[in-house]
Amino acid sequence: MNPLYEQMPVSVFERMSLAAAKFGAVNLGQGFPDFGWPDEILEAAARALKDSSNQYPPSRGLPALREAVAAHYNRHFGQELAAEHVCVTSGATEALSAAILATVQPADEVIILTPAYDSYAPTIRRAGGVPVEVALKPPEWRIDYDALSTAVTSNTRAIIVNNPHNPTGRKFGKDELAVIAAVAEISDLIVISDEVWEHVLLDGRSFTSLATLPGMEERTIKVGSAGKIFSLTGWKVGWMVAAPGLANVLARAHQFLTFSTVPNLQAAVAFGLSKGDEWIEPMRERFQRARDRMSKGLREGGYAVLDSASTYFLCVDLAASGIGVDDESFAMAAAERAGVAVVPLSAFAEQNAPRHLVRLCFGKKDETIDAGVAAMIKAKGLFG
Ligand code: PMP
Ligand code: GLN
Repeated sequence: MNPLYEQMPVSVFERMSLAAAKFGAVNLGQGFPDFGWPDEILEAAARALKDSSNQYPPSRGLPALREAVAAHYNRHFGQELAAEHVCVTSGATEALSAAILATVQPADEVIILTPAYDSYAPTIRRAGGVPVEVALKPPEWRIDYDALSTAVTSNTRAIIVNNPHNPTGRKFGKDELAVIAAVAEISDLIVISDEVWEHVLLDGRSFTSLATLPGMEERTIKVGSAGKIFSLTGWKVGWMVAAPGLANVLARAHQFLTFSTVPNLQAAVAFGLSKGDEWIEPMRERFQRARDRMSKGLREGGYAVLDSASTYFLCVDLAASGIGVDDESFAMAAAERAGVAVVPLSAFAEQNAPRHLVRLCFGKKDETIDAGVAAMIKAKGLFG
């Protein structure tokens, strides 16, 4: 078998969800909310299942969804996109794989900013490329021009950026996006911009899509996910957005990964994106309240909690909380002996991985948060 897969561990998200099920723990590990989706979308999906085609949709996506994605970004980010910029995929995970396979040739280097989403490095390797890690430093996690530009060599083909950032909850500033744009332009790189968290913004923040920076439209492959926008992570409807010439090539990679994506869910997502944006603000406020409730509970329980500006994740600093074990040992003990599953950050980097931080998902109902916080306090007691 291919050693890449033979030696690959089960993803940290699956591992922690299995541990939560095994030990009956509150699952604050894998990132999925237990509230937040608009009911009308579920009804639209049910209608589409009964009344529309259940046969293969066009490989690049239902025209209605491709148009809705383009219109959504034109409205939100002032872009001038059309259906020809959009290729629908089975989730952002597939979009990332298609984008990497379409971009990377053997021996190409691809820069990733760690902690980085866990699919990037293995997929770069599968494409024959070499992932090059640039470590962001806690607690600011800032993108630095010198660190980024030093990582570029004559073999560098692309940079993968994730903004807003999972697992840290950081939203990079315009100055940091300008750093990425400058490095990409100077060295003529493609930027794969994983923007799945673009709408999960807290404290009134706004979001800038990387493709809207001067000179970036032609070299950016944006990745989006309806699973995140509508809090329906199991739906696995995502997309790539790029200049038409790039999008044509991306669509070729997509056609031999999945070929096409469940048509009824595509129709429901098209409905959701087109029906207006009134749901966005209440959704953000609800996640913000959840973050505040979890942070307060953890701080009162003696935990050092890092800031979270977006996504539904926050990080806890174990060392600063007086816990002397590494993230992996803490996570296993917390699931098994205290009843709460969290994600160790060392799973998001291979070199210089931080080992003193764990990620918690706060996109949960009050009772789930309270039970999780109580279990975290119990977990602290195991090491106190
Ligand atoms: N990228 C990032 C940064 C994510 O956080 C996630 C899911 N949490 C994905 C990609 C995958 O999204 P999807 O479920 O649509 O495949
Ligand atoms: N992206 C989700 C997270 O960060 C998990 C996705 C998955 O399980 N593949 O938790």
